[in-house]
Amino acid sequence: MWLQCTKCKKYKPLYGFHRQAVGEFGVLTYCKGCRSVLQKQRYYNDTDWRKKRNDCSRLWSQDKYQNDVDYRKKSIEQKRLWRKNNPSRHNSTGARYRATKLNQTPPLTENEKKKIELYYQITTYLGSEWHVDHIIPLSKGGLHHPDNLQVIPAVHNLRKHNNENYVIPENYIFRI
Ligand SMILES: [Zn+2]
Repeated sequence: MWLQCTKCKKYKPLYGFHRQAVGEFGVLTYCKGCRSVLQKQRYYNDTDWRKKRNDCSRLWSQDKYQNDVDYRKKSIEQKRLWRKNNPSRHNSTGARYRATKLNQTPPLTENEKKKIELYYQITTYLGSEWHVDHIIPLSKGGLHHPDNLQVIPAVHNLRKHNNENYVIPENYIFRI
């Protein structure tokens, strides 16, 4: 069966249209090519929509990362490659983070310094599944101080990102 696209007016086979539960013949009224053009325009023009889409796709990949071993392996490899091919960008992200951390480190007593060190030693000991987390994110003005540190599972740290309202299950939080 061939349908006419309402946008480019070309006739295309049914599979040339995206499926849609409510549409006539179960497909959208404009073809895949036109849809992708519309999506791109929307992506550039509609900030809210773009944000929502980005959030959705981030959640989707985080969920897949957590539950799909192959996807996880692939994405770690991809990240490794990206870092290898973009050494300057990778380093500048790291440098910016280190600068923020340094900026937001208050004067520390010897005891506090040791405590911070201990937090990082714990994650070294526990392995890459655990991260040192700033309770109030550095990007939200949190301090690099032992009172603002905790050890949490890496997956929760990645999900939390810089959202200070993200709730981590109580029994997964480790504090000194
Ligand atoms: Zn079309």
